[in-house]
Amino acid sequence: MKSVECAGTLQSKENQGLMVFISNRDSTCGDCGENLGSKAWITLAGERGALCLACADLDHLLFLPSGNVALTRRARKHSTLVAVVLRWSRARKRYERQGLLVEALGLEKAEEECLADHEIRARRREREAMRREEVDGKYVEEFAARVRELFPGRPVGRERQIAEHACLKYSGRIGRSASAKALDEPAVRLAVIAHVRHHETKYDELLVKGYERREARAAVEEVVDRVLQKWEAKC
Ligand SMILES: [Zn+2]
Repeated sequence: MKSVECAGTLQSKENQGLMVFISNRDSTCGDCGENLGSKAWITLAGERGALCLACADLDHLLFLPSGNVALTRRARKHSTLVAVVLRWSRARKRYERQGLLVEALGLEKAEEECLADHEIRARRREREAMRREEVDGKYVEEFAARVRELFPGRPVGRERQIAEHACLKYSGRIGRSASAKALDEPAVRLAVIAHVRHHETKYDELLVKGYERREARAAVEEVVDRVLQKWEAKC
């Protein structure tokens, strides 16, 4: 019998212990004599051939499908009795693992551990997000202070607006670049220029009207320079 031979090979090769097969042919239990149909879950017991799970004393186990590695590992650990469930793949000509039969208590314990893990990870993520916010908040303060220092004549409050915009998370804007992180004057200056362009000139209107960015920038350059000079002057 092909399936029995293959099962024997598999058992000795992988030493997987108890195995349950999802049968692909009509089988009858060698113990209770019941006809199990063609898709029965059976074990193979040497001379006696196929056994139903009840006769094999495995019918109290729960099926855990493959896929969740952590859950599978833990369920195996917490279950005294474990059986690997295999199905013959006609296409690939080999047995393929479908999952495990494990004890209900073991599975419960494994699920609890995975849940706890999940909660721990969620809490850690929360903590990290909070820390990031603090770091960013501090960075915005420093950036604003630098704007205040370099542009003492700016309208009060603009430094905050500029700093926040420049530091916008994940935006890839000036504020996130390495040189701005160091709060270099050129980087801070670039952020201020961008702000002035958008808030003190017709730049945005020109873009809406269909100007190329380069054209629009050239068109407002003079105004930007004038505003910068004013802002740089001490009042
Ligand atoms: Zn039986």
